[in-house]
Amino acid sequence: MIIDCHGHYTTAPKALEEWRNRQIAGIKDPAMMPKVSELKISDDELCETIELNQLRLMKERGSDLTIFSPRASFMAHHIGDFNVSSTWAAICNELCYRVSQLFPDHFVPAAMLPQSPGVDPATCILELEKCVNEYGNVGINLNPDPSGGHWTSPPLSDKSWYPIYEKMVEYDIPAMIHVSTSCNACFHTTGAHYLNADTTAFMQCLTSDLFKDFPTLRFLIPHGGGAVPYHWGRFRGLAQELKKPLLEDHLLNNIFFDTCVYHQPGINLLNTVIPVKNVLFASEMIGAVRGIDPQTGHYYDDTKRYIEASPILSNEDRFQIYEGNARRVFPRLDAKLKAKGQ
Ligand SMILES: [Zn+2]
Repeated sequence: MIIDCHGHYTTAPKALEEWRNRQIAGIKDPAMMPKVSELKISDDELCETIELNQLRLMKERGSDLTIFSPRASFMAHHIGDFNVSSTWAAICNELCYRVSQLFPDHFVPAAMLPQSPGVDPATCILELEKCVNEYGNVGINLNPDPSGGHWTSPPLSDKSWYPIYEKMVEYDIPAMIHVSTSCNACFHTTGAHYLNADTTAFMQCLTSDLFKDFPTLRFLIPHGGGAVPYHWGRFRGLAQELKKPLLEDHLLNNIFFDTCVYHQPGINLLNTVIPVKNVLFASEMIGAVRGIDPQTGHYYDDTKRYIEASPILSNEDRFQIYEGNARRVFPRLDAKLKAKGQ
């Protein structure tokens, strides 16, 4: 089985974006604020957007199951207050849940949280509980920077995040550390802000003792870990100066990386530096980079090709990256599959 642990609903029906635009307009002019009930998307519309897009590509490229969360750039936690984020997160999470119900063999949901800058992360717990208990979500996306590129929140090691971690440990679910749209002109959303955040989250964990407090907490750092694998020597050296344990012991029981790296040399580097047990297959298809690479004639985000062509990986390694590691990092996914005899 090939599990893609990083997919977003980037192809949701236009009505979703139109509703969101009205919600944003309603922040300034409450008379414009739409009701949740005014958003109407039928099952047929959901099926069409999935069948024509993600599911078609999954079949073409040969992946079986996608861990599916709301579109990351649309989370835009910096817009409005907690109530705005809360309503928006509930809508987006419900849509991913419905997709998972319509295509139970191909999509399993992961939740966005109703984060809001300056608001206590503990306020996200209710939505998190609903998504796990009622919608069968197997993970969450946690935004380390709800301000959208201004980094006004304390680091991930700060105690204000602990209520979320306590709930993650209780439910045995991992978090993908995933920022949203940058509203800081210095940082391009997918080219700079995402990769900055991946690197930043890793370093926040490195300088802290977070995983001493939460030995079973699991973070999935997407986009191949940002700059982390490339600069592994720097991080090892910094950990040494800070008198931290070796990174293998300090972080690699808790931090995992996905394979959303869009060229062969990058994937080779990732798998040379980071142990196989810490790498999970992912493509983030129909996401940040949607074009065809003229050097290969294939889509940049067709990442399975790079795993297949890797000169480093054995077939057992590939099994772990495609399936074994995902089952370990997402135990609720593993339980779902086992319940179906898979
Ligand atoms: Zn993503």
